[in-house]
Amino acid sequence: MDSAHPGHRERVDGNAAGGLLLEIFGRDMTGARAACAHCEHEAALADAIAELDAAGVILLCRGCGHTLLTYLRSTAERTLTIGGLTRLQWSPDPR
Ligand SMILES: [Zn+2]
Repeated sequence: MDSAHPGHRERVDGNAAGGLLLEIFGRDMTGARAACAHCEHEAALADAIAELDAAGVILLCRGCGHTLLTYLRSTAERTLTIGGLTRLQWSPDPR
C-alpha cells in the first residue's frame, strides 16, 4: 500500500485493513464474519468497505453504508470505536 497523503482517504475493501485488524485482534480477521446492527447484512470483514487514511481505518457495511468500526492510530494511543458491528464470528485456526 502506498502511504496516504494527509486528508486523502482511500476507499478499498476489507483486505486492505487486514494488517490493522491483526494489530487489534492478534490474528487474521479478514475471514471473520461481521454482522451489521442496522441492516443485518452479514459478510466477511474482507468484503466490508474500508476507508484508509494515515490516521487509521473505517470499516463500512456494504449493505447499508453504516460504520461498522473505526480504528484510529496516533503516536500516543490507539482508539477502537465499535459502531454498527453487532456480531463478529470466526473459526479458531486449526492446530
Ligand atoms: Zn448494514
